[in-house]
Amino acid sequence: KIRVRFAPSPTGGLHLGGVRTALFNYLFAKKHNGTFILRVEDTDQTRFVEGAEQYIVDCLNWCGILPDESPQTPGAFGPYRQSERKSTYKQYAEQLIADGYAYYAFDTPEDLNAKRIIFPNFLYGQKSRMEMRNSLTLTQSEVDDLLAQNTPYVVRIKMPENEHVSFVDTIRGLVSFDTNLVDDKVLLKADGMPTYHLAVVADDKAMEISHIFRGEEWLPSAPIHILLWKYLGWEDSMPQWAHLPLILKPDGNGKLSKRDGDRLGFPVYAMNWTDPKSGDITQGFKELGFLPEAFVNLLAMLGWNDGTEKEIFTLAELIESFSIERISKAGAKFDFEKAKWYNHEWIKQSSAHSLQFAVRNLLAEQNIEVKSEDFLLKVIDMVKDRCNLLGDFVAQSTYFFVTPNAYDEAAVKPKWSPEKATFFQEFSQNFKTDSTALQLEEDFKALADVKGFKPGELMLPFRIMLVGGKFGPGVFDIALLLGKEEIQNRIEKAIA
Ligand code: GLU
Repeated sequence: KIRVRFAPSPTGGLHLGGVRTALFNYLFAKKHNGTFILRVEDTDQTRFVEGAEQYIVDCLNWCGILPDESPQTPGAFGPYRQSERKSTYKQYAEQLIADGYAYYAFDTPEDLNAKRIIFPNFLYGQKSRMEMRNSLTLTQSEVDDLLAQNTPYVVRIKMPENEHVSFVDTIRGLVSFDTNLVDDKVLLKADGMPTYHLAVVADDKAMEISHIFRGEEWLPSAPIHILLWKYLGWEDSMPQWAHLPLILKPDGNGKLSKRDGDRLGFPVYAMNWTDPKSGDITQGFKELGFLPEAFVNLLAMLGWNDGTEKEIFTLAELIESFSIERISKAGAKFDFEKAKWYNHEWIKQSSAHSLQFAVRNLLAEQNIEVKSEDFLLKVIDMVKDRCNLLGDFVAQSTYFFVTPNAYDEAAVKPKWSPEKATFFQEFSQNFKTDSTALQLEEDFKALADVKGFKPGELMLPFRIMLVGGKFGPGVFDIALLLGKEEIQNRIEKAIA
């Protein structure tokens, strides 16, 4: 039975790498008729942020990556928040101590800090690890005394010496770690809460997780987790591991962070995130005008492809085509221009109907009144090819709803003449509402011919009168949609 989990810590906004992790778990689960679980890893009270869990749930909803089991939709393996599973972890820590795989450590944070100054490489390497292992030199009765005196302690894993921990990562192949280079991580904190390392293993076991897809930044933790699976006697049910390639900065130089987005002017979070303390808002893809389909599509392509040139996938197609074998080991550079290209493609292929609600809201924000839904749908169809972001619909379609107030005069003025004004008045009087854009163009050319103009001299002025600037779809398509009366008004206003 395939069971996978997305296990975010509710510490703030959801980075696009987090959503990609959720997505790959989801795709794998759906592909194999498995179960996709959302588990909230909230054991670190110092990093807990109010509202972050709801935000994660909202993001997954927006993307359409819906968990089968979650705090909101619990299944048979709950609770789905680690803070609510607290009672189970301590017994595992005690079991590990009894079996000699972990130990009580009584060093105060001050002791450790002092050592950190003396041994700058404290966290890495056997020599410095020995300095951390003061508590291992205590006799059993000394330990009992300290415990009886309620001396604060943490529980640490006792990393074996001179061993290698190896496993086959589904993406990276055989991976091996020298245990001398991994330090004795804390499993249970002084407040009785487990650390991530203990909780993740205990919960993956309890929730019968079969496969773990998570970011490559967790690879260094894998030897600790694998040893815990063994030490707790669960080796037979150990899940398969797959560490997903990092998402890199646009220049490929290191992991993409929120700060890169701020610096380079693009979002890194899925949706707007409001910091509950400062009230600061970090912009998300959603609010910037990405369609969820496009966001999911572009995330899937960060480190995966189906082996062909195909780039546009619906969620259903991704489920159909997904395979672990085609996930790359190499990091994937994030390219915001490419991200916008995906959105553009998705806007282009979306029906006007599916965009209607969003566009109407955007126009309403600009106090632009939409009188007819049918007219709105036609406008959307006409301009959607020109939009990269949903917000582009405002600039691309406002002139359909409001007569331009300003004109790109530089484009017309130098060659303007009263004869041209007469041409436009006549043309608009003879405008046939029931014609086609092609017919309209022919009438336009014929009249130009009669009046002794080259049609090319008149096309741009016509556009400027209707649109205000040098942009938009075919001018005769625009004219037809605006209708005779509106065309006459606009021409009169422009030449007045
Ligand atoms: N809580 C970890 C995180 O925030 C989960 C890592 C894992 O999947 O093991 O990403």
